[in-house]
This record gives sequence, C-alpha cells and structure tokens, in this order.
Amino acid sequence: MGLWAAVFAERMGIDTLLIDAGALGEGASGGLLGALMPHMPDQWNAKKQFQFEALVALEAEIATIEGETGLSTGYRRSGRLIPLPKPHLRQIALERSVDADTHWRAGDRRFHWDVLDAPEIAGWPDVAGNEGGFVRDTLAGRVAPRSLCAVLAAYLRRARHVRIIENTAIADIDLARGVAETSFGTVVFGHCVIAAGHQSFSLLARHTTGLTQPLGQPVKGQSALLKADVDPSLPTIFRDGLYVVAHEGGHVAIGSTSENRFDDAYTTDGQLDVLVDKARALVPLLGEAPVIERWAGLRPKAIDRDPMIGSHPDHANLLALTGGFKVSFGLAHRLAEATVRMAAGEEQRFAVPDSFHLINHIRVASR
Ligand SMILES: Cc1cc2nc3c(=O)[nH]c(=O)nc-3n(C[C@H](O)[C@H](O)[C@H](O)COP(=O)(O)OP(=O)(O)OC[C@H]3O[C@@H](n4cnc5c(N)ncnc54)[C@H](O)[C@@H]3O)c2cc1C
Repeated sequence: MGLWAAVFAERMGIDTLLIDAGALGEGASGGLLGALMPHMPDQWNAKKQFQFEALVALEAEIATIEGETGLSTGYRRSGRLIPLPKPHLRQIALERSVDADTHWRAGDRRFHWDVLDAPEIAGWPDVAGNEGGFVRDTLAGRVAPRSLCAVLAAYLRRARHVRIIENTAIADIDLARGVAETSFGTVVFGHCVIAAGHQSFSLLARHTTGLTQPLGQPVKGQSALLKADVDPSLPTIFRDGLYVVAHEGGHVAIGSTSENRFDDAYTTDGQLDVLVDKARALVPLLGEAPVIERWAGLRPKAIDRDPMIGSHPDHANLLALTGGFKVSFGLAHRLAEATVRMAAGEEQRFAVPDSFHLINHIRVASR
C-alpha cells in the first residue's frame, strides 16, 4: 500500500519520505499468491462498485508502471473458475450471471460470469465432485506479488520527489510538532500516512482516544509455490477458501490458511500440507508437482473488515492506509491514490465508500 502511495505522491510532485522498518516489499505483500478476486456480482453496493472499478483500472496502472520501468509485474487478467460442488448452486450461479451482466460494465468493456458444465482445460480442475458445474468469470486476474513490489520499488528508486529509507522503524510520532522518531533520527513531516500493514493498528491507536477495542488485528496466512508445467493463462481456481493460481514461468501458487490465533507468525506447518493435498485432489494437472517454497505472512484485518484509509478525525496531519486484508492487491492503487489526494487536499477522482474511512473504524472500535 505504502509503495503505491509513494508512486502517487511522486506523480503529484509531493516531496515524500518512504520509511520502511525492513526492506521494501518484504511485509505481507511479499508473498506468493496475488489473486485479484472480484466480489460476487449480486447485492451490488458502493464497496463492490469501488472494487470493480479498481480491478478494471489496475490493468492500465500496471501497463503504465511496467512501461516506465521496463519490468514485468506478472499481471494477467486470467479470470477465475469456481467449481460448484452441489447441484443447487448452479441456479444461484445462473442468477449471478444476470447480475454480472448488469454491473460488470465499464464504458464499452464488459466482463462475464458464465456457468459451464466442465472446465475448458481437462484437469484444471477435475469435473468429478463438482455436480453443479463451474462458474468462469473474466474479471478476475492475478499479479506476482514480489514482481509487483519490485516494479514499484524500481520506479520509486528513480523518483524525483521520493526518498527511501529502509531498515528503519518509526518508533513514535509527535503530531503536534509534526515529527517522527526513527532509529535513523528525527524526521519532520507535513502529513504522515501510516501504511505499516497490521502494525498500523497499534501505531494509529496510540493517537486515538476513547477506543474500547483494537483498531484491527493480524490474521496469519500460509501459502505454497509449486513448479508445474501448466499454461500461465489458466484461470485462478477458487473453492471454499482454497486458491490455485497459475503464474508465469511454470509456477502455481496455492493458498491460504486464515488463522486468527497462531504461535509463530512466519513459519508454516501441517495446515499448509492439508491445503496442498486438497489442491492436488481438486486439480489433477498439479499431479506430483514439487513444492518449491512455503511462505507465511500477516494480513491486516481492520475492525470493520473493510480497508481503513484516510484522515484521522482528531489529527489533520495523520492518515491511515491499511486494512486490505485478503484483497489488497486489487485495491491498493486506488486506496493509495485516494489517501494521497486527501493528504494533499485535492479533489477525489472516484468515490470512496464511507465504511473505508478511518473515522468509521474508530467509531466501531469505540463502541
Ligand atoms: C498467505 C497470504 C496470502 C494472501 N493472498 C492474497 C491474494 O491472493 N490477493 C490479495 O489481494 N491479497 C492477499 N493477501 C493479503 C495481502 O498480502 C495483504 O493484505 C497486503 O500485502 C497488505 O499490504 P500492506 O502494504 O498493508 O502491508 P505490508 O505488505 O505488510 O507492508 C507494511 C510495511 O510496513 C512496514 N512497517 C511496519 N511497521 C513499521 C514501522 N513501525 N515503521 C516503519 N515501517 C513499518 C513493514 O516493514 C512493511 O514493509 C494474502 C496474505 C497472505 C498472508
């Protein structure tokens, strides 16, 4: 999130200091999956509209930054396949197809939610056990998380208005004086955007009175990378929280566990083995494909589940940019742009749902 914010600050000519406790892109964003998943097209609301527009706009954002850096993010709008294990799910899926026809439109572009009897490529996934058929949507996509972070970082390292300081944690912020204490020294700022992933919640809470609960929590996730000789354009498979994502270069990512309680944030365990076994059972094309990496990270889940962005109600110079939880990669560019515009006092180019604003989360955490 912070990398996108710095990209927009650069484009708007705002002098920016990007301070990271580690190396750029090594937080939760440095994982393996990178699924860009739309919400269901039924029961349309402002949140779904924001996400739809963000997913559509990402394609052009990626093309621009890839053009500027000459590097690839591993982005592809490869779509999504949702197996329907029970016959009654087919009727629901057919109704959603009508909803998609209504809502998944951007200018002359239309995205589809089709119901199929069998997947287009045999074995991706297995037909057996999916009696309702399959949904195939054309809006979803994927990006290679580490490649995306590397591209954003490469752009920022050449930026005119952005200076980067790595391996330096923000220890405390004095909002009245507009200074931050870091292990590097004292930094003076006009506006401070906290985009510290799950660690944002405690940093923001320190400057918020009346809270009765934390502003958010970390949710651990584990994922794996397989080496498999499959077509990188194959759609992402999604069933019951299991994702199978075909990436470029013969890589397939599998995820993810969702753990509210954990002993060690950054280790993987038997829960990941279960997930890999499930993926192999569902997707025969994975066969005996070897696991080449196992990875765990902490997602930032805000108290009201939605992203948490924008100005602090009591401190005009403090802004949040976090809470992307399980869908950050599809939204980060838009959340970052909106937040930087708020900091700069510029008009927004698109609507931001009320529930995303920091003030909403503070209200919920103060009940
Ligand atoms: C297993 C797993 C699978 C996932 N799959 C997907 C997926 O398929 N699609 C999707 O969209 N999302 C997915 N997510 C979620 C996504 O990865 C996160 O929501 C997203 O990366 C959060 O980005 P962020 O910038 O808010 O936080 P981070 O990427 O964690 O970045 C926060 C940064 O802040 C820095 N920082 C922290 N504290 C300080 C401090 N005090 N001072 C200075 N710097 C600090 C950190 O060093 C870090 O670089 C997944 C997450 C996991 C764990």
